[in-house]
Amino acid sequence: MERIDIKRVFIEPELLKLISGAQAYRMEALPVSRKGDLVTFAVADIEDLSLIDELEDICDMEVYALPVTDVDDLKDSIRRYYPKSSGGGDGEDNSGRLLHEIINMSLQMRASDIHIDPKEFDGKVCMRIDGKMREVKKVTKETAAELVSVIKVESFLNIAEKRIPQDGVLKIDIYGETISLRVATIPTIYGEHVTMRLMNNANAADLAELESLGFSDGNFKLFKDNLMLPNGIIIISGPTGSGKTTTLYAALRFLREMGEKHLVSLEDPVEMPVEDVTQVKIDSDGERVTFNAALRSVLRHDPDVILLGEIRDSETADIAVKAAMTGHLVLSTVHTNTAIGVFSRLLNLGVPRFLLISTLRLAVAQRLVRRPCKYCMDWRDSTEEENQFFGWESTVKVPEPKGCSLCGDTGYSGRLAIYEMVEADSNMRSKLESGAGEEELSSFIHGEKAVPDMKVDGSFKILSGQTTIKEVRSVVSV
Ligand SMILES: [Zn+2]
Repeated sequence: MERIDIKRVFIEPELLKLISGAQAYRMEALPVSRKGDLVTFAVADIEDLSLIDELEDICDMEVYALPVTDVDDLKDSIRRYYPKSSGGGDGEDNSGRLLHEIINMSLQMRASDIHIDPKEFDGKVCMRIDGKMREVKKVTKETAAELVSVIKVESFLNIAEKRIPQDGVLKIDIYGETISLRVATIPTIYGEHVTMRLMNNANAADLAELESLGFSDGNFKLFKDNLMLPNGIIIISGPTGSGKTTTLYAALRFLREMGEKHLVSLEDPVEMPVEDVTQVKIDSDGERVTFNAALRSVLRHDPDVILLGEIRDSETADIAVKAAMTGHLVLSTVHTNTAIGVFSRLLNLGVPRFLLISTLRLAVAQRLVRRPCKYCMDWRDSTEEENQFFGWESTVKVPEPKGCSLCGDTGYSGRLAIYEMVEADSNMRSKLESGAGEEELSSFIHGEKAVPDMKVDGSFKILSGQTTIKEVRSVVSV
């Protein structure tokens, strides 16, 4: 029997009214979807038939019960969806409680950001889930304004100031777990808009395991082999929001678990605290801790692996190369679209060609795509045009997202990355030595050497049902 991964399910607030919080706690059951008079519950104990009877009585509907993959996850979800409140109060208490509820909900729905968005006549609470914005709650204009004030108070912003953007940090206790959110306000024509980014929580999957990133077998081995090297540079590239940091942190986690290595990171800003990593905050605009000064002192702390948040100018490029030359493994990111682009980017930043050849080990490019919801996903035949685009020789079966109540009608749940990786092996190095430009390198790598590019990786992930044609085409050009 199929089990339901409750952590990946989006439950409509309307459904929650079918049973009370007390009933949910007692019966260890959560309503997850409804079709007409049939309601599906996720339950801890599928064998308990009297429980199903009781649920049918309470809801006055037919009940279908699905076992969960993990009972502890179910308990967490019940706590999040039916928060135990501490009794009534005045207006401010209410908005405080609403804020608590919203943050709680964002944790359950694995959101990365929360928006309080005032409109002309009312307000909206939206969340970014799997990279897409979704409206989760409508509120009155007054409630939206109260929420904004509570957030400003809790994050120590100037509550009287409504005309200029402010930013701060909100820390809130949700069932014994301290959740940090980066808060930013901005005045709009209808009032202040607040954006909150969830920082240190499991949802962000910032410390994902390498295995969970969605590497193909070939890429997984390539990436791992390069991480085990004693020195050199590994670069992850891609536009903002392509999941570079997730890959970088997964690499850190892998190295940490291998043990016996001193890991140091120089970041601006520090995205999240990571256990067993010496994290240094860089002040690249100011004058307190510059990259150069930080690196000099970091080298005295005997690191094995150095993570540089981003190589964005010739100074950081120079530092990365120097560190790699002095026996360190350097992990970093750059803003380029392709893996090959990493080589030219570093050359453009003034890294001498011979130093690039002797230090750069692996260039990775990546994009994020959404996974189809496994509860409603369908398969269809590919079209002639799609066969041509992806180079499929004949019609193949491809996933088609549909939408159901378990995925909030989006047809998608969760994300994974598609990758291309170019290793600076001896062939590649001699190409570089000969002075080849980006175009020549690219046709050598993807033509002669047949290194799969992102389109090929995406095609593989479509055929194995991990993403859809539309998703891959939205991030891969031609
Ligand atoms: Zn679905």
